[in-house]
Amino acid sequence: MRPTYQVTELLGDGIGPELSRAVHTLAEALPVRLEFREVDLTLANRRDRGPKIYDEAVESITATRVALKHPTATAEESPNAILRRRLDLAVIHRPVYTIPGVPTNFRRELDLDIVRIATGGTYDDPGRMIGEDGAVSLRIVERGAVREAARYAFNLARRTGKRVTSSSKYTIQKATDGLFEQVAREVAGQFPEVPHGIELFDAMLGKVIMTPEKFQIVLVLNEYGDFLSDMACGLAGSLGIGASANLGFDPAAVVRVALFDAAHGTAPDIAGKNLANPTAIFLALSMLLYQLGEIVVGKAVKDTTLDLLRQGVRTGDLGGKESTETFTAAVAQEVARRLRPQEVAP
Ligand code: NAD
Repeated sequence: MRPTYQVTELLGDGIGPELSRAVHTLAEALPVRLEFREVDLTLANRRDRGPKIYDEAVESITATRVALKHPTATAEESPNAILRRRLDLAVIHRPVYTIPGVPTNFRRELDLDIVRIATGGTYDDPGRMIGEDGAVSLRIVERGAVREAARYAFNLARRTGKRVTSSSKYTIQKATDGLFEQVAREVAGQFPEVPHGIELFDAMLGKVIMTPEKFQIVLVLNEYGDFLSDMACGLAGSLGIGASANLGFDPAAVVRVALFDAAHGTAPDIAGKNLANPTAIFLALSMLLYQLGEIVVGKAVKDTTLDLLRQGVRTGDLGGKESTETFTAAVAQEVARRLRPQEVAP
């Protein structure tokens, strides 16, 4: 019997249906059974059903605890923003790595897991003028939010054998960033087997470029995570191929719900033409499998997708000849081969 998991699948627009078919084909090839509960977030259905469709999505995600979201057209509202708010998705996990076949100006290999607190920092307060010539804004750091993100980062490190770097400007922002590092150190104390280092954020930006191999999981406050993600994506050249996890936590800082999605949009220019590259949604599916505890299967999905790209099996956007369907079939077949139980000699 294959282990069975329920997954909410949020259907989207443009290339969404093709990506959904690709995910189902790949899922069929896995040694686990993913039962997809579909919620239709296409623009037509959102307009037809109104806010009720979000009630349905929230109810389903709360029940299944994990969700895979396809890209949705942003029109009257942003489904991503609504789901983030309604599900209290407070932490973003964004892996960024160089991908073979994706052109980049950077000549080194990068493999970073950025764990970013998605609230607070300087982003919750737009600030205000003081008279005509000055302005102030509040910078907010909360112990609970840092603890949630830190526990997630250290658990990820424990599962994957990686190390954690927490990074901030604690020497200057003594109260806010000092609190952040204090909580990070407290959580690190609960994971004695996970190596933990602390870096000043400005110095780390330089070091990520000079010695990227020294950094694996990086834990950061909201705005630092924003800056670091874009810099790392630029280095990896993988704008549009990335995937991320949006995480909500229970009061004990354990992941309550996790929503995985690709960074790209609905690509209306190529929709319905069998041209869409499913790499990002496969990487999102890989993260979802890690979250379910299916580390070997999740790793196989990621490694196979990247290995095939390295071997030149690529869709047109990466200069290859494969269609969505042929690329998907190649990944599915290779994942199944790699995960097939070995025959034991009698
Ligand atoms: P886009 O990412 O959809 O497209 C930008 C370019 O990248 C296009 O040329 C497109 O063909 C290409 N591209 C994107 N994904 C691809 C893939 N998987 N394979 C091959 N090529 C791919 O960005 P856009 O054109 O700015 O936005 C289109 C729509 O998507 C908008 O309505 C936008 O609001 C929405 N959007 C949704 C999300 C989301 O749901 N998470 C994210 C970004 C944009």
